[in-house]
Amino acid sequence: MLFTLINCVVTVTLASFVTLCGQRQVTHQLPWQPQFSICDNCSHRLCWWQLIPVIGFIVQRGKCHWCGARISSFFPLSETVVILFTAKTFSFSWQHNLILTCALLTLLYLSITDFTAQVIYPLALTGLLPLLFILSPSHFLTSQALIEIVLIGTFLFILQFLTKGLGTGDIYFILMTDFIWHWEATAQIVLIGCILTIIPTIIKRGKKLPLIPGLAISFIVRLLFYLS
Ligand SMILES: [Zn+2]
Repeated sequence: MLFTLINCVVTVTLASFVTLCGQRQVTHQLPWQPQFSICDNCSHRLCWWQLIPVIGFIVQRGKCHWCGARISSFFPLSETVVILFTAKTFSFSWQHNLILTCALLTLLYLSITDFTAQVIYPLALTGLLPLLFILSPSHFLTSQALIEIVLIGTFLFILQFLTKGLGTGDIYFILMTDFIWHWEATAQIVLIGCILTIIPTIIKRGKKLPLIPGLAISFIVRLLFYLS
C-alpha cells in the first residue's frame, strides 16, 4: 500500500511536469522558462497548493484563484487517469513499473500537445516501444505484421485524402498501435477512441475535438484488460 502510494505520487508529479513541457513546447517555450508555473490567462505565479494534482483544481473550483479564468477539466481528468492506472498496475518489478510509466507519460504528452495545439511530435511515439517487453507480441516484426502496417497505413492515408477529417498525427498513432499490438486490438482501440471523442463533440455541439486523447484513453483501457 505504501509503495503503491509513493509510486502514484511520483508518477503524477512526473505527469504534471510532462503536461507543463507539452504545453510549453507547442508555444515554443523552454520547459524551464518561465521558471515557475504561471496562469495562462493572467500570468500570475501559481502557489504550491494550486499545483497539487486534482486537489488544486477542486480547491479552486475549476477557476484560476487570481483572475477567475476557467481551467480546463482535461487536466484534472488526465491526472486522475494517471493516478488510477498507476495504482492498478503497480507491481514490485521496477522494470514493469518503469515501462508502464514511460508509456503512460508518452500517452499523456501526445494528448496534451494534440489537445492544446492539434499537433503531435511523431518522435514521442517511441516512448510506447518499451511496451513490447511486456506485451511480447508473437507477430512482432514478422512479414505478416509489416504487410498489415502497410495496408492499414495506405487505407488511412486514402481516408485522410478523401475526408480531410483524419490528422497525420492520428495516423502515426494508429500505426504505432498496430506495431505494438495487432490489428484486432488496434481496431478495438480506434473504435473506442472514436466513441470517446464523438460523445463530447456532440455535447459541445459539433466543436471539433482532437482524436489522440480518446485514442490514448482507449489504449490505456486495452492495456488494463491485457494486464488483468
Ligand atoms: Zn489567472
